Amino acid sequence: MKRFAIVHKLDDASQKMARIIKKQVGAFMEYDEAHPELVIAVGGDGTILFAVHKYLDQLESVMFVGIHTGTLGFFTDYNRDEIYDLINDIQRKTPKVFPRSLLEVHSHGQVHYALNEMRLENNRHSQVIDVYVNDEHLETFRGNGLCISTPSGSTAYNKSIQGAVLDPSLRLMQLSEIAGINHNAYRSLGSSLILGADKYIRLKTVNYQYSVMCCDIEDFELYENEVIDVMLSNRVANFADYRQVSFLERLKKSFL
Ligand code: NAP
Ligand code: MN
Repeated sequence: MKRFAIVHKLDDASQKMARIIKKQVGAFMEYDEAHPELVIAVGGDGTILFAVHKYLDQLESVMFVGIHTGTLGFFTDYNRDEIYDLINDIQRKTPKVFPRSLLEVHSHGQVHYALNEMRLENNRHSQVIDVYVNDEHLETFRGNGLCISTPSGSTAYNKSIQGAVLDPSLRLMQLSEIAGINHNAYRSLGSSLILGADKYIRLKTVNYQYSVMCCDIEDFELYENEVIDVMLSNRVANFADYRQVSFLERLKKSFL
């Protein structure tokens, strides 16, 4: 790879680390913010989300690698003490490519992408959502909202609403409820539903007042009677895997 760019968090530690990396990697690669082949994210998992959304239109020619200014993250393979390991690996190694699945969200004639999840949330009214899987009606959900996550996003928002943790190499998506109302009059599945890549989820509702749709770090307005289709995309975010950190290692470092 010949061209790189850096995306960093705005705190002092991340800015300082970004300056060092830019100078050192700049000695053997060209800094090209507009058309990089390697994007180095300095900060945390949230910084990777930001980087992927920044380069959404170039995913086919960009690879991502992350260094955490805290500890190890789910998208970041290096911690703050390993800055020179990262620089050496970039200079000397050819990385394996680790493709991470993205969700594709079709709404209002537009396509949005998510590396972690899309969620439809309403914290003022109970949101009614008709859920279809490949044109078949599953349920009429009522509650705060729904979250559809990728395996990579399973340890993020999805985990805090008791969704399952999934191996990020799987091509699956997971539908989880956000505070669903479940009693004799209203009923939805209650547990997370994991679906394969041949499925798509359609969300329909007549009233979206006060609700918001988020795809990772981006949020979108919703319109009356809008239909939202969510599926696994054929597009992926490619990560430059220089050191093969195992998924169990990340899980243990973060949660155990
Ligand atoms: P953010 O500050 O960028 O991220 C919120 C936290 O989620 C940070 O600690 C971040 O790690 C962590 N995170 C992000 N992706 C992760 C992943 N795949 N696995 C494990 N942890 C992950 O916040 P934001 O801008 O509001 O939203 C970005 C993401 O935050 C969303 O995609 C959503 O998944 C998550 N979020 C979670 C909740 C919740 O759990 N209730 C609520 C809102 C948002 P770093 O500190 O390393 O950046
Ligand atoms: Mn983190």
